[in-house]
Amino acid sequence: MTASDIKTADKPLPEFKAALHAKCPKCRKGNMFANSMYGFSGQKMHTYCPYCNFQFEMEPGYFYVAMFVSYGMNVIEMVTFAVGTFLLTGSESPWLYVGILLAVTLILSPFNYRYSRVMLLYWLTPNLHFDPERAKKPYNE
Ligand SMILES: [Zn+2]
Repeated sequence: MTASDIKTADKPLPEFKAALHAKCPKCRKGNMFANSMYGFSGQKMHTYCPYCNFQFEMEPGYFYVAMFVSYGMNVIEMVTFAVGTFLLTGSESPWLYVGILLAVTLILSPFNYRYSRVMLLYWLTPNLHFDPERAKKPYNE
């Protein structure tokens, strides 16, 4: 590890980059998820931020709201891919569209699961903002 690595590791990420890397919305340092997006072990979300101990599920059932976000993402993806398929192939066969849209839904579902929660916590929750104090040092030190 070089000196510049340590420096970037110490500084919290900018908002969009932190969201992209699924970091905790409070400290932008701890990871929200315990494993990778595409893996055979499924997705595990930390209950508490490993860095600042923020509880991600702020109240019981909080992530039900993420279902609506995920639904919106799905609609946008399906419309995009349906229009894209039409523009590329000009096909009128419904089976082509059913096949492509099913595949897209399955392939993107881990992505939707993860980023619906990220979007909910970053941009759709009032009163939840980045807190520079929490980013200064890990809670258990
Ligand atoms: Zn945190």
